[in-house]
Amino acid sequence: MPSKQRKIAVMGYRSVGKSSLSIQFVEGQFVDSYDPTIENTFTKSTRINSQDYELKLVDTAGQDEYSIFPSQYSFDVHGYVLVYSITNTKSFDVVKSIHEKLLDITGKEHVPVVLVGNKTDLHMERMIPADEGRRLADEWKAIFLETSAKQNASVSDIFHNLVSEIEKADGNLNEK
Ligand code: GDP
Ligand code: MG
Repeated sequence: MPSKQRKIAVMGYRSVGKSSLSIQFVEGQFVDSYDPTIENTFTKSTRINSQDYELKLVDTAGQDEYSIFPSQYSFDVHGYVLVYSITNTKSFDVVKSIHEKLLDITGKEHVPVVLVGNKTDLHMERMIPADEGRRLADEWKAIFLETSAKQNASVSDIFHNLVSEIEKADGNLNEK
């Protein structure tokens, strides 16, 4: 089977670890200081459920609650990784606001999303309990994961789970 191309946008407040997660997944390393203003697209070939994929990750420069949802991320993106930091309450509010705008701009009731609480290695500084993240993801009918880009904990799970969600969404379309 030829490899399928899927485009994924990684979004969230600044400094939550969007670039660190993307680079950890694509290059297998943790970079300690990465220019926070850069928007980059990474490509990674990977095999998921015995299908080859070419994943394009758009590592966005970050949003806040005042950002207008960038329309270039609304039409050819198959799925979204919405990242907050478990140490930052504001970043949790920001993913809620991004999700709302995402539904608005796509006009869909459901979009493939993985909600990610990053920086689990900083457990002494935790502000958002795992349950709160899980509850929010349940509301969205999204997948929930806690990760550490630094310790490479559950990072590849984000993208594997998201691709499975994207395929499910495609399947539903084909049935209609
Ligand atoms: P972005 O602005 O969302 O792309 O965030 P970055 O990936 O640039 O990360 C912001 C800061 O958080 C950097 O100093 C990273 O080294 C740090 N960081 C990212 N992920 C983790 C993590 O899982 N654990 C810890 N302790 N620090 C992290
Ligand atoms: Mg970044």
